[in-house]
Amino acid sequence: MKPLSPSVEKATAYCTYCPKMCRFSCPAAEAENRETVTPWALMRLLEYVQDGTVEPSEEVYETFMHCMGCKRCQTWCKHNSDVPEAMWEARAALHSKGLVPEALAGFAEFFYEGNSPHSEPDSYKEAGLADAINEAFDPAGRIGFFVDCETRKYEPQLIPRIGNLLDSLLGEKARLISRDDGEGHGCCGFPVLSYGDDIGYKAYRRRMERKLEGVDYVITDCAAFADLHTEGGSFGGFESDLEVVHILELLADLVEELPVGDRVDATGMMLHDSCFVGRHLNLYDATRVVLNATCDPPPDEFQFTRDDTPCCGAPAHYHVIAPEASEACAQERVHQMDREGGSKIVCASSTCNKAFRRVRDANISATLLDVVCTACGF
Ligand code: SF4
Ligand code: SF4
Repeated sequence: MKPLSPSVEKATAYCTYCPKMCRFSCPAAEAENRETVTPWALMRLLEYVQDGTVEPSEEVYETFMHCMGCKRCQTWCKHNSDVPEAMWEARAALHSKGLVPEALAGFAEFFYEGNSPHSEPDSYKEAGLADAINEAFDPAGRIGFFVDCETRKYEPQLIPRIGNLLDSLLGEKARLISRDDGEGHGCCGFPVLSYGDDIGYKAYRRRMERKLEGVDYVITDCAAFADLHTEGGSFGGFESDLEVVHILELLADLVEELPVGDRVDATGMMLHDSCFVGRHLNLYDATRVVLNATCDPPPDEFQFTRDDTPCCGAPAHYHVIAPEASEACAQERVHQMDREGGSKIVCASSTCNKAFRRVRDANISATLLDVVCTACGF
């Protein structure tokens, strides 16, 4: 393998002499109940591959895929070691050797065919949303709205409502950046980067950003997209002139301007901080500012909240690699809600909401932007 980057080398060295201080914090290791996938073991394995003790193989690559990139271990690491940074680097190194795990074979080709991790063409016309979207957005707008691919797939009816909310806040219509009928870029590319194809991701990102020339900046509800455009993010440094703002940051900054009518009664709702909105983007306060302005009473806090929040089990292909464990992570969070007396989870991430709905039912979670749009009459 090529040499590890200095920060990853330092982190693996710290893990070597650490008595697994973060052992209990990893949702994947807890759900699978095995040592091989603890942060410590993943980092040791990387070091063994690096020093030649272990041969790179599909099996090793598959093991590295058991990190969801949730950064929960970092909360308890005295050295602030970034395990996802190391795992994403390790996957890229093994991907370059063609050692793709069987469960993910063909994923990149599938993704690049439609610029999205979702197969079917997303026709807003079919969903009866074409007119609403045409009214809410301006294809020549200077400000872009890049919709999370999970929102586009599972909650497309939210898209024109967000467009109208942005119009009322910004005083101009945004340009919807999405994929309809197989055209355009329907995803930020995080799924291919997570899978290990960093070279393909960089090319995809260049193509996508070329299409965005002429846009002053981009607002998004996809925390991964925002993180990939934030300096110092866990998933690699990528040079770019494109400014990307997570919509929660914008809503918190403009909270006084929100056209709130009847606040949403969030009795029984409990706020789940997604790993990407929280530990990656640190939008904990922004989330609460927005919910306090739009809900009365606001949602309750979980016992494990903010940096302590466990992962829903969905990110970074974990549901493909370990479906039962992935769903056990979501189940555990839903059971925490039951134990703490809640009846619904509210979360800013479409990925987390999908995971919770998969293990209970469609009513188990509310999308935070749905709550905000409702309170603002959109
Ligand atoms: S990530 Fe930090 S806490 Fe966890 S094993 Fe490594 S050094 Fe220890
Ligand atoms: S980032 Fe999350 S999934 Fe990955 S090793 Fe750390 S706690 Fe486990």
